[in-house]
Amino acid sequence: MQSNFEFQNELEFARRIMITCARITSSVQQEHIVHAQIKADRSPVTIADYAVQAFVAQALQKEFPQDGLLGEESSSSLPGDQSLLPSIAKQLKPYLGVVNPKDVAGWIDRGRGGSERRNWIIDPVDGTKGFLRRMQYVIALALMIDSEIVLSVIGCPQLNLYGHLGGMAFAALNEGSYWEPFSQPDKLYPLNVSRQTSISQARLLRSFEDAHTNPGQIECFKQAAHLQNQAILMDSQAKYVLLAKGDGEVLLRLPAEDRPDFVENIWDQAPAYRLIKEAGGEMTDRFGVKLDFTTGTTLTKNSGIVATNGILHQETLHILKEISD
Ligand code: AMP
Ligand code: MG
Repeated sequence: MQSNFEFQNELEFARRIMITCARITSSVQQEHIVHAQIKADRSPVTIADYAVQAFVAQALQKEFPQDGLLGEESSSSLPGDQSLLPSIAKQLKPYLGVVNPKDVAGWIDRGRGGSERRNWIIDPVDGTKGFLRRMQYVIALALMIDSEIVLSVIGCPQLNLYGHLGGMAFAALNEGSYWEPFSQPDKLYPLNVSRQTSISQARLLRSFEDAHTNPGQIECFKQAAHLQNQAILMDSQAKYVLLAKGDGEVLLRLPAEDRPDFVENIWDQAPAYRLIKEAGGEMTDRFGVKLDFTTGTTLTKNSGIVATNGILHQETLHILKEISD
């Protein structure tokens, strides 16, 4: 990584706030207050999701007030008529002092505002189901300028890489991808995708939740590609971090059979995108179409996701096409 590059201030800011974000999610877990609330769309959410989004929004307001923020949560989806706001404020107190619950709601709702050119993207707890099961989850942050994802920082409190439990994976345009353990700040491990050239030796990564993908089609893919290795099932964008590190070669995210028109959320893919590209991999939709992050909060021009070590990308797309014909 160069000592001086275009988005250095933004990257340093994002790495700094990520440490606090991970402390917030970890302390919610340690205090055993990870009860899921159910949002209107039936998906689970916890006070950690709201506290992290509020924290990121207030930090952005101070540091980059002109920038927009696209975040998964909004105060209107707070379950139980906003009665959770004081608990969220309590989680923020160690870092921000006493805060007014009304301000917390305002910060959360900054995540609805896109700006013309520069937009941050946050999934405050990606893989909430993994968070609830105490398995993998991440805090996923990206910066998009015009149509380009220029940096990604993915906080992974439960991922053990290079012998360190918990850390963040980050990447900036043309600067590579790195792993930085929380316990050893500034010790950077470069992340590079695997050099595997044989599809049958590929390690496949997919969602832990059957409902978030198409297990039947993935099974067909495994057979058609003569995969020799067990698939790795994992919640959240942590599985893209494994791909970036070279601990897997092919990541498939296929629309569930009962939701063929499912469109991906921008916060589930944008942070992963820059990390994979800078690690030397490739990431497109399931038809090989370039991902278009300019269509609001969902990727309406794309369907599903294929991320690979690059070498195996065309072959993966080809097999997917063959099994769906
Ligand atoms: P993962 O942990 O990789 O399975 O992805 C978690 C993300 O999947 C969540 O943040 C949701 O935004 C998203 N999601 C929820 N329902 C679906 C679905 N039916 N198909 C694909 N993704 C979904
Ligand atoms: Mg998510």
